[in-house]
Parts: sequence; structure tokens; C-alpha cells
Amino acid sequence: MFATYLTIGLTIYIILLFVVFFLSKDYKINSFLLLLISIVLTPITGFIILHFTDKRNILDIEYYKCPSCKMQYTEWTEYCPSCQKSGKNISLRPIRFKSV
Ligand SMILES: [Zn+2]
Repeated sequence: MFATYLTIGLTIYIILLFVVFFLSKDYKINSFLLLLISIVLTPITGFIILHFTDKRNILDIEYYKCPSCKMQYTEWTEYCPSCQKSGKNISLRPIRFKSV
């Protein structure tokens, strides 16, 4: 019985450690240091530290690229305007990237 509780408790503990670790990627803190702190001082401490840490400034850019002529657009249109001039209907592909 005790072993069952221990297993459940450990599983929750490890899941919480993972949550803290993955959340920390958006914050200005060393993820591995926070993971270490969370292992020693419980994940709750990790959450508290994250709460008082600044978030990273994440640049989230989305643009659209024509696979044919490689032109890039900031606004979505159904077909590449450049290729449409030459009579081809080429669908644009959304490209998204995140940067710190
Ligand atoms: Zn094109």
C-alpha cells in the first residue's frame, strides 16, 4: 500500500518537474538550474521562482513563402501574386519562427 502511494507521489513529482522545466524556456532563467532547484526544493518552489522571473521577449514572426519563386510575403493571399502574373496559381506556404 505504501509503495503504491510512493509510486503515485513520485510520478506526480516527476510530471511537475517536467512542467517546470518546459515552462522555464519562456523565462529569463537557466532551465537546468531551475530543474535542479525544483528537484531539491520541490517543484512548487520552481513555480514560485518562475512567477517572480521575467519572461523572455519572444519574437513570433509569421510570413508566407512561395515554393516556386521563393518570394516572401507578410500578408497571406491564396496564390503567389508574383507567379499569378505569369499565369501560375501557386499556393503560399506559411513559415513561422520564434526567436528570443
Ligand atoms: Zn511565386
